[in-house]
Amino acid sequence: MAERFQTPLYVYSADQMIERLGLFQQALANRRHLVCYAVKANSALAILKVLAEHGAGFDIVSGGELARLQAAAPEAVGRVVFSGAGKTIDEIDQALEAGILAFNVESEAELGLLASRAARRKRKARFSLRVNPDVFAETHPYISTGLREHKFGIDIRQARRIYVEAARSRWLAAHGVSVHIGSQIRSAEPFGAAVARVAKLVRELEKDGIRLKTVDAGGGLGINYHLGEGESFDAQSVVGEYARAVENALTGLDVTLLLEPGRFLVAQAGVLLARVLYVKRNGKKTFVVTDAAMNDLIRPALYEAFHQIVPVAPRPGRAAPVDIVGPVCETGDFFARDRKFQPVEPGDLVAILDAGAYGMAQSSNYNTRPRPAEVLVRGAELKLIRRRETIADLFAPEIL
Ligand SMILES: *Cc1c(COP(=O)(O)O)cnc(C)c1O
Repeated sequence: MAERFQTPLYVYSADQMIERLGLFQQALANRRHLVCYAVKANSALAILKVLAEHGAGFDIVSGGELARLQAAAPEAVGRVVFSGAGKTIDEIDQALEAGILAFNVESEAELGLLASRAARRKRKARFSLRVNPDVFAETHPYISTGLREHKFGIDIRQARRIYVEAARSRWLAAHGVSVHIGSQIRSAEPFGAAVARVAKLVRELEKDGIRLKTVDAGGGLGINYHLGEGESFDAQSVVGEYARAVENALTGLDVTLLLEPGRFLVAQAGVLLARVLYVKRNGKKTFVVTDAAMNDLIRPALYEAFHQIVPVAPRPGRAAPVDIVGPVCETGDFFARDRKFQPVEPGDLVAILDAGAYGMAQSSNYNTRPRPAEVLVRGAELKLIRRRETIADLFAPEIL
């Protein structure tokens, strides 16, 4: 693949994504449910299409992501929920026109705007309030979202009043309630705690005569980026434990469960393939400089995230500590620091693992670097799903 498509190159396994989606669907077989893949984790059109074919719904956060679904899987638009704290009028209109399943509304002001846009079209808008359950989830502070101090959602203590007020609007239909407490959460317990608080709200609303159809438990289930050699990741039992925690919190409630996994479906299905350009020594330190950089995969620079890296064809010799870095002019442009690594030489290929989520999706053209190509592997079939950008692509919107 590296020879055919050059490097840096993202390579994904469609089979693993489908398998992961299936784990959620099987674990929830005893309840009406819809697994809404969080498009922002990896929004490649071909990936959306594959997941839609296997029954996924989708969680989107922009009109751009909705347009992606309309292009890749128009039949799945009725399975879309729209999250995000800053939806614009145009985005709301676009989603109303498309007929999405529901808006996950994050403020009273947004709910008011939604009602007025729905009134203009004389068509009811289905909404869920995204409530903030005030549950702390142990993760990186940039991706923790479930506390009152965060910008996301509506204080759960205000939610009941808002639903009751919204029931008076002709143009709003209370469809459900949603939460999303953060990302890369490795334990099932905070998910159960958040959904338990939501379940209590659903019961209170029943007393007010408001019957919600869905509970959306959000996304955020984490993976193990630190897997040691010979260790394996038991995705099935992780999903099983998670599903049980969420299910238990919903006992006795006749609601459809929505989940919004992003990372868990696609992270481990992807690698970023890079070629070693130089091996250089500065004093005591050894740097392996690759042709991939922080513009291709920013997670290490942004969250100090750890990615395993392996040589594609290991050479004999003793592993020694190196920094694996890219060519971008930033000290933050690294993939690994002081990592024990087998000897490599210029021209060798290395694979940066678990790069399927928040990799290409967060890539940029910093340093005027064209973004990588992407390949999707399905069974024995290899498919280029995004060609490598050219410099002409980068200049195209500019005006001289
Ligand atoms: C980011 C996000 C997700 C997906 O999070 P993952 O950690 O990738 O599972 C789901 N729902 C909402 C509202 C999000 O913002």
